[in-house]
Amino acid sequence: MRRVTGGWVSTGQPWVYDQVRYERIAAARLAEQQSMIDYERTTGCRMEFLQRALDDDTAVPCGRCDNCTAAWYPSDVAVAAASAAAASLDRVGVELEPRAQWPTGVASLGVDVRGNIPVGERLAAGRALARLTDLGWGGALRDTFAVQTADAPASAAMTSACVRVLADWNWDERPAAVLSMPSRRHPLLVASVARALSEAGRLPWLGSLDLVGGGPDGSSGGNSAYRLAAVWNRFAVGPELAASLAPFAGKPVLLIDDLADSRWTLTVAGRLLRRAGTSAVLPFALALRS
Ligand SMILES: [Zn+2]
Repeated sequence: MRRVTGGWVSTGQPWVYDQVRYERIAAARLAEQQSMIDYERTTGCRMEFLQRALDDDTAVPCGRCDNCTAAWYPSDVAVAAASAAAASLDRVGVELEPRAQWPTGVASLGVDVRGNIPVGERLAAGRALARLTDLGWGGALRDTFAVQTADAPASAAMTSACVRVLADWNWDERPAAVLSMPSRRHPLLVASVARALSEAGRLPWLGSLDLVGGGPDGSSGGNSAYRLAAVWNRFAVGPELAASLAPFAGKPVLLIDDLADSRWTLTVAGRLLRRAGTSAVLPFALALRS
């Protein structure tokens, strides 16, 4: 095109995409990026590296860069400090505090509860393996719960860490059975933890609560009232579970879940299980968000 007064006119010359030139530029950019990575990773003299990159063939090791000299800071770690750090990273178990009050305003969302949760319908104090933000187990749990991670049974290391949480738990009365939450995103994960804890504690695993109407509507946002409303009436103690639970009337049970966030899911399930005759519901979640 050529600009003329009032607009443009065609020159009649065909336009050609200069593929060779653009490929050459792209290759040069990739080579530059690679040489930055090489500079970062080289174990040789960095000054010599830069000089050679600029075609200086007189380049020799400088004797002053970090690679030419030894670390200027102490690089040995005292055994006691290293083992204290390892023990701290391997620490398992955080408290999962039960909710004591229904959220204000939830009645206006069609959930007819208010004020304190009756003591007979509350969860007991629970445990989680770790917070998602923790060092140590938090890292493995962040991977486990990352959106792109497919559901899978927990690793042997993770289930044995869960067993350690159970062993350290100073509950008032030892639970008599294990139950699990129905999980749509992590059924294999929850099942593997429930099975491991049931085997380690020699407690029967009675199965899982049922999802009602497809379960929670999936929205996890909003304030407490909205979050409770989203899980209210979405779980049930089905006839099969009720039957296997009957011999455990008046006994405490352990309730396994994958990830506790607002804790309303566990609170609602705990209420159902208390109403089904258990004397206490001890929640155990793999991870705690917050
Ligand atoms: Zn150097």
